[in-house]
Amino acid sequence: MTLKSIPFWLMIVTAFIAGTVIGVCLHPETNLIPSHVSLEIIPWLKLPGDLFLNLLQMIMIPLVIASVALGVSSLSSLSELVNLGSKTMFYFLFTTMIAIIIGISIATLLEPGKKIDLNRSKIVSTTPQLQNTTEESIPQTIANLVPKNIFRYIAEQRMLSLVLLGVLLGIFFLSSANVTSDPLKLFLKSIEAFSIWIVTIAMKLAPVAVFGLMAFAITQIGISLISGLFYYVLSVLLGLFILLLFYLIIVLLIAKRNPINFLKNIREVQILGFSTSSSSSVLPISLKLAKDKLKIREKVADFVLPLGATINMDGTALYQAVATIFLSQVYQIEFTFFQLILLVITVTGASIGTAATPGVGIVILGSILHSFNIPVEGIAIIFGVDRFLDMCRTSVNLSGDLVTAAVMDKWTE
Ligand code: ASP
Repeated sequence: MTLKSIPFWLMIVTAFIAGTVIGVCLHPETNLIPSHVSLEIIPWLKLPGDLFLNLLQMIMIPLVIASVALGVSSLSSLSELVNLGSKTMFYFLFTTMIAIIIGISIATLLEPGKKIDLNRSKIVSTTPQLQNTTEESIPQTIANLVPKNIFRYIAEQRMLSLVLLGVLLGIFFLSSANVTSDPLKLFLKSIEAFSIWIVTIAMKLAPVAVFGLMAFAITQIGISLISGLFYYVLSVLLGLFILLLFYLIIVLLIAKRNPINFLKNIREVQILGFSTSSSSSVLPISLKLAKDKLKIREKVADFVLPLGATINMDGTALYQAVATIFLSQVYQIEFTFFQLILLVITVTGASIGTAATPGVGIVILGSILHSFNIPVEGIAIIFGVDRFLDMCRTSVNLSGDLVTAAVMDKWTE
């Protein structure tokens, strides 16, 4: 049996398991390897993972602009764009709210916060660096969505604005004469082809990358903290699992596909999401997989996936809902029914604003806690286990986008 004959998914799964085992061996809490040795080894193990991530990050923004623009330009008319756009947005909102309701229900039923004794617990760890965001009013935020300085917006990776730029370019292609738009279109096609070529190269690195990233990620997880926060972690995991089941029902009933095959087809993306904690980095691979394996029409995948990676984060929304209820229980703050409805709305907005990169979900959680008068310092309680939960929610975020693409493929047939 040669290396080439091993299926790709098997390589990824093997790398994932091996990385986890090595991560446990290198973990300071297991004391299996002297910590000065592990500290030397870990950066080298992570190197292929960093190369892999940097390759994907390098093409992520040009690919988003090009694929959204080309996706929109291949629609038959502006009304088809309105049709696809409105259905996608409606579906995103619907699933995000379902995710939040699942999160609230589980946290209310299991009451993980009531199992924590703030005075006796040893679970307090470091607090994350909260972003120094200057408050913008809602009209300002809306106005700033238009990228007034394209290069600055690219440098700052303001994804929603760049998706908007892609849509504008697409509309331009749809509505202008070929002579003026063809050169720009050809340029974007070439950028898209280059990006996909880079994805193919990156994929060759993927098994080694997953191995190193997993080993690294495991060393970053506070294993003893997980046991202290067992019910909290369990609530988030249970919620994510139920959300995944809900997705599979949608795949069966709405997208009219076999859920088991669907799950098999997307497993590489799920594992990559888990090991990188970054849905934006995995987006280029998701795009390729949606077209090649799931056979989703190009114009649908090109529009839905970049938009989804930017604004549709069901896993993050569910986690933010559980974390808010958990901390309200820790600090003995009761939620009225009206406040719960407000929580659904707030978290929906917050998850839209969460960037698809590692650890952002918990930073945005700070502003949610603030709006419900829950002490923001509470984040210190859950921060130690956030790395692990980030891995899980990112995997679900990516799955949710692929399910949406399959649904839209059906709904716009
Ligand atoms: N890491 C998540 C993602 O990339 C975002 C978050 O919840 O922190 O999808």
